[in-house]
Amino acid sequence: MTENTELLLLCPTCKKSVKEHHKDDIQTWYCCEAGHQTANPIKQELDGIQIFQRKICKDMEEHPEHWDNYKPLKLYPSYAAFCDDPEEQTGFKPARVARWLAENEHFKTDRETDILYYGDEAKGTWIQDGET
Ligand SMILES: [Zn+2]
Repeated sequence: MTENTELLLLCPTCKKSVKEHHKDDIQTWYCCEAGHQTANPIKQELDGIQIFQRKICKDMEEHPEHWDNYKPLKLYPSYAAFCDDPEEQTGFKPARVARWLAENEHFKTDRETDILYYGDEAKGTWIQDGET
């Protein structure tokens, strides 16, 4: 049986992600981090960035030596990193943020609306902010 990597399985009770717990003769049981067991987790389709993140996670599991390649993706640079003067935090340049995002693939553009969404890894959500 192959896992469908395009789907995220969520606990129907608390909406947290579930992991495969055990299989009985009929079905597969899943367990979330809060300990709820379910045989019918919510199936949520992954968006582009989640598929991307999942690929990275899988790759890192199989090739821990690749970790160094991905380290830069784990942290957003500080605000100061985009300033002319990082000490004083003056001369902030939004274009540098845009470039950084482009280089780090933490963005996507909605084809319908052309709105640019920024990935907020800490929250795991997309922020809509077309100004930068
Ligand atoms: Zn739960």
